[in-house]
Amino acid sequence: MNKPEPPPRVRFAPSPTGSLHVGGARTALFNWLFARGRGGTYILRIEDTDRLRSREDLSREIIAELGWLGLDWDEGPVFQSRRGELYLPPAERLLEAGLAYRSEPDPEGRTAIILRVEPEEITVFDRVYGKITVAGSELKDIVLIKSDGSPAYNFACAVDDHEMGITHVIRGDDHLPNTPKQILLYRALGWGPPVFAHLPLILGADKTPLSKRHGATSLKAFREAGILPDALVNYLALLGWSPGGDREIMTGEELVREFSLKKVNRKAAVFDHQKLVWMNGRYIQAAAPEELAERLRPLLAGTEWESASPEKLQSVISLLGHRLKTLADFTDLAGFCLEGEIGYDPEAVAKHWAGEDTGEILAETREAIERAEPFTREGLEEALRAVVERRGIKAGALMQPLRVALTGRKDSPGIFEIVALLGREVTLDRLNRALVFLGKNS
Ligand code: GLU
Repeated sequence: MNKPEPPPRVRFAPSPTGSLHVGGARTALFNWLFARGRGGTYILRIEDTDRLRSREDLSREIIAELGWLGLDWDEGPVFQSRRGELYLPPAERLLEAGLAYRSEPDPEGRTAIILRVEPEEITVFDRVYGKITVAGSELKDIVLIKSDGSPAYNFACAVDDHEMGITHVIRGDDHLPNTPKQILLYRALGWGPPVFAHLPLILGADKTPLSKRHGATSLKAFREAGILPDALVNYLALLGWSPGGDREIMTGEELVREFSLKKVNRKAAVFDHQKLVWMNGRYIQAAAPEELAERLRPLLAGTEWESASPEKLQSVISLLGHRLKTLADFTDLAGFCLEGEIGYDPEAVAKHWAGEDTGEILAETREAIERAEPFTREGLEEALRAVVERRGIKAGALMQPLRVALTGRKDSPGIFEIVALLGREVTLDRLNRALVFLGKNS
């Protein structure tokens, strides 16, 4: 019987030199899934030792976006820049052992500490990429401490991973070239290396590496475009990993249960924005109106909806929610639910207000709505069906012109629900305006 492995300790280690993008978020997610499915520990480490390029506001943004995504960490955030005292002793130990040397002093008399690398072949066993061999001739000496006193990237990374007891390093494959260097550092320091697993590159639809040219790729942009975090998690999980079969919509719990490094694909993954939007629509349909209203609220700042009451927002969402693909569709689709004048879509007018008897039908509808009791979905349906029967017309001959009068659109949610939501006064106002419009145009 195999000895059970101890629970893993993994980390996500972003550098705060840019916003958090799809690739970083996917790395964070795979680490989180790996830890959560194995009773492990997931640590957030901010790699901000590059003093020139690191920005505090970006650290804050990355931390906030990870929180929004729902990937909670067990330890951290740990800031590398605040661990300065940790890196010098191991570098000095290598100096004393004669494995490292000091560089020539710079103009200010400062020296760097550098590991001497003998030209020998290094083999990496990567959990995703398999065995990778690097010729000794490709390796150069490795800077440990820069002349400004800060640790160099590979050294800080190896020291931190060791100090934090990291068992598995799961990161983007842009770090594959760093791995032999880090293995040499572990070896020089007499430490056992962690398991390495590199995740495949993410490409845009045109099969070139995903970048700004492909449109929104930062988490901030997705959040502002009305993508739900759960939908994004589901979508990102499938970028380079698959549970097998053609399953796509999966809950967080299912992802945690099924995720394994074995099923991470070596082939580059293609980011498909349309598919994300489709998936998001599915999540919106399944979400509770209260949750959607809460997620929507920050997106409505500065719009006419800013001051809408929570009740109003929730009732409009209940009415329209299933038609939204992203929360950003809301203001466009829901415009007619605000009080005030609506515009008429010319196509809707041409299609549904062309009949000779449209004015008469709408006038009769107005009377029925004026008198309808109770003023509920059911009461309204009964009142309007009575008009249809009395006139001997098809239901659509009343509902469609009424829809245009109340929403200005060709399509909308159920008309009775709309009348109930708008209330008697707004409905009658809009019918009056439609009758004036029809009178002028007939
Ligand atoms: N800080 C590195 C980056 O943002 C990640 C290093 C690592 O995961 O080992 O690309």
